[in-house]
Amino acid sequence: MESADWQAALARAIRDPRQLLQRLGLRPAQLHRLDLSPAFPLRVTEHFVSLMRRGDPDDPLLRQVLPVTDEGQAVPGFVQDPVGDQAAKQPGGLLVKYAGRALLVTTGSCAIHCRYCFRRHFPYAEDGMTRGDIAQLTTQLAQQRGLREVILSGGDPLMLTDTRLDALITQIEARPEVQRLRLHSRLPVVLPARLTTALCRRLVASRLQVVLVLHVNHPRELCQALSHALLPLRQAGITLLNQAVLLRGVNDHADTLCRLSEQLFASGILPYYLHELDRVQGAAHFEVPPGTALQLEQAVRARLPGYLAPRLVREVAGADAKLPSRELAAS
Ligand SMILES: *Cc1c(COP(=O)(O)O)cnc(C)c1O
Ligand code: SF4
Repeated sequence: MESADWQAALARAIRDPRQLLQRLGLRPAQLHRLDLSPAFPLRVTEHFVSLMRRGDPDDPLLRQVLPVTDEGQAVPGFVQDPVGDQAAKQPGGLLVKYAGRALLVTTGSCAIHCRYCFRRHFPYAEDGMTRGDIAQLTTQLAQQRGLREVILSGGDPLMLTDTRLDALITQIEARPEVQRLRLHSRLPVVLPARLTTALCRRLVASRLQVVLVLHVNHPRELCQALSHALLPLRQAGITLLNQAVLLRGVNDHADTLCRLSEQLFASGILPYYLHELDRVQGAAHFEVPPGTALQLEQAVRARLPGYLAPRLVREVAGADAKLPSRELAAS
């Protein structure tokens, strides 16, 4: 795949709820509480839409992207910055919350707008890091103590061009203490063509150990095109992990979660985290009650090998790691 392909596909992303429904053979009247002019705009790739079931207003993929009026409801405990990211942010886009790892906010933009995402309220610039920001990075990283791993996040780091990513990775490689490079991205899932030959080659050529953490919530988000696009990375021994968010009406059944794990593994991806929803304003209707979440985790553990059971975790502002929900419930 070449860069012109994915950039053209991005430009064709659907932004109008009516157009999306039309593609799916649905009438607006079939959708409950549809919001046709949301504050956080609709955005979804044609590829992701092609994975949705036509004519199904309850489709779990559609639910992740379709704006609904519930988002406008104020619910106590659901706030703008639930995980304390603003407080942890350093100049140059570095977020340092956990030992040995620095997370880099490379861009505010994404190829898809997930309705449950905390970034719906974030004042991140839509533009990616500039060439100037990237040039400063080695110096910035040199100021971190005990740094072993740099995580490219966002937004979605794969929204940056291959040229910019190359420059960014080169800056990170210049710090001898850094061993690992991690990318957190949903782009391959919603646009498999993003895994260009040039990008795969660059990742494989790095002296750093590379980990790609995907974000797949439902088994139907996986397809042949994704498995195929991941193949060069798998063959080069790059570690592929997945983080999912536990979402009401999307994946809150043990069967769905088990199928997700098994199908991820069939594509060479290991389940890593199952996140409890960050309590962000506008996402309360996606929340699975903590007791139910624990039961689901237990059900999955009872049915799958340990390596296919993701860790159910919750992010707590100020904690030194993402916390296992089981420990939180016990304390
Ligand atoms: C989630 C997160 C990480 C990575 O945590 P792991 O448990 O290593 O996956 C690192 N930095 C920040 C700021 C994070 O939010
Ligand atoms: S950051 Fe991730 S979860 Fe949030 S909108 Fe972008 S792709 Fe979706």
